[in-house]
Amino acid sequence: MADFYELLGVPPSATEDEIKRAYRKLARELHPDASGGDPHSEERFKEVTVAYETLRDPERRRRYDMFGPEAASAGASGFDAGPFAGGLGDLFEGFFGGGFGSPFGGGGRGGRPRSRQGPDMEVALDLTFEEAVFGAQREVRLRQPVACATCQGTGARPGTTPVTCSECQGSGEVHRVRRSILGQMVSSSPCPRCGATGEEIASPCNDCRGEGRVTEERAYTVEVPAGVDDGSTLRLTGRGAAGARGGGYGDLYVHLRVAAHERFQRHGQDLVDVLHLPVTQATLGAHLRYETLEGTEDLVVPAGTQSGRVFRLRGRGVPSLDGRGRGDLLVQVMVDTPTHLSAEQEELLRRFAAARGDEVAPADTRLFAKIRSAFK
Ligand SMILES: [Zn+2]
Ligand SMILES: [Zn+2]
Repeated sequence: MADFYELLGVPPSATEDEIKRAYRKLARELHPDASGGDPHSEERFKEVTVAYETLRDPERRRRYDMFGPEAASAGASGFDAGPFAGGLGDLFEGFFGGGFGSPFGGGGRGGRPRSRQGPDMEVALDLTFEEAVFGAQREVRLRQPVACATCQGTGARPGTTPVTCSECQGSGEVHRVRRSILGQMVSSSPCPRCGATGEEIASPCNDCRGEGRVTEERAYTVEVPAGVDDGSTLRLTGRGAAGARGGGYGDLYVHLRVAAHERFQRHGQDLVDVLHLPVTQATLGAHLRYETLEGTEDLVVPAGTQSGRVFRLRGRGVPSLDGRGRGDLLVQVMVDTPTHLSAEQEELLRRFAAARGDEVAPADTRLFAKIRSAFK
């Protein structure tokens, strides 16, 4: 299937209005009533309509941009959870590695012929921790071969058209016949004259020297879904390199690199944080304002909380990629032993120890130790 943007003749950055206008114009030209029943026009009308139906819907367009036509046509409720069973790092494998049946069809690579299509390209995209958790709209820029605007990718100088290759008569292959005792042996190989395209260019386009493509910088919007992880890969269908002489576009693979967070660590869909508590709060209990990734929450620390205890804030973790639910935020308590006590604090703590009957080191030993270290 051709690229939906190309079918409609709009750039991938086109607004909804531009897409609608482009479709109306094409529909007027190609509609069976207007084209007099020309079967080619009818076929194109169908293709253009499929493209429009996908791109007019923001959600389906987003999915088409990310994962290609198969994902855009798969039900409106989002992705199947199945491919993610192996973990978030398998996003790429799950979607494109083949080997699973639904919902994108066998192999997942779409039905476009690969022979003359341009190569796939790769680009890295750095995300903050929060962008990976909550999703983001980001732009990637790269220099890539694109169809030559001067010759519309044909490679032929404007006003001229490529002609059928004189050596292979347009088949793109040459056959060699040898006689042997068993009869005639026929072998075929790619036509060297036309590079297997079946066409020859008599007067090449000046801008692309007959190749039908030129290198340009392009920018694409990447819709990063909430819940991606470091090492995930997104595919932008048809945003790779242009093939020679109108050969169609490869795909663009966007490799995601997610920065670490200074407090939160990620364990699958759960977030883990360590909360330091003074011994007083851990002992007597406290009502704290606790900073999550998305704002502050009340955290009730019960009296007698031990070091190592884990509070679970349900649904405050990482969303699952299929949009169903979120992980939890696990807050692990670390009780800090007080240091650098004032004379008054030390006096209170000694009385506390005496009241409990706890045997502690006498005060003067510590004093002597302090004096010794001061004269070192
Ligand atoms: Zn050109
Ligand atoms: Zn040829």
